[in-house]
Amino acid sequence: MAEDPITRHFFNGFIRLHILYHAVKEPVYGAEITEELVRHGYRVSQGTLYPTLHQLEDQGYLKSYSEVVRGRRRKYYRATPAGQKVLAEARTKLLELVAEVIEDHDQPFQNLKQKRGKPGPDKPT
Ligand SMILES: [Zn+2]
Repeated sequence: MAEDPITRHFFNGFIRLHILYHAVKEPVYGAEITEELVRHGYRVSQGTLYPTLHQLEDQGYLKSYSEVVRGRRRKYYRATPAGQKVLAEARTKLLELVAEVIEDHDQPFQNLKQKRGKPGPDKPT
């Protein structure tokens, strides 16, 4: 599946939401998040995921720590209070988005259009 620029743009946001969601619940590390995102159908490698994790940490949404598991050092990421807050806000937006785009509830927008007046007869549809 080749991704056009707008799809990549959307998916970059979705991937950040997935990471935050999982990192709010429990500590996560790169390889398992990569596998989880691939399971969701995203085309990501660890190489592309790490800059995203680092960015989320630099922005204060994740905090990392190292731990040795089965003789190997793993870098775990956990959501910070700011990460929890931003996920909670995104959940509200997601609900609205699902209601409108997936369930096709656009009555509020139709009401808004009504209030603003209909376009003239010659306007392209
Ligand atoms: Zn997931």
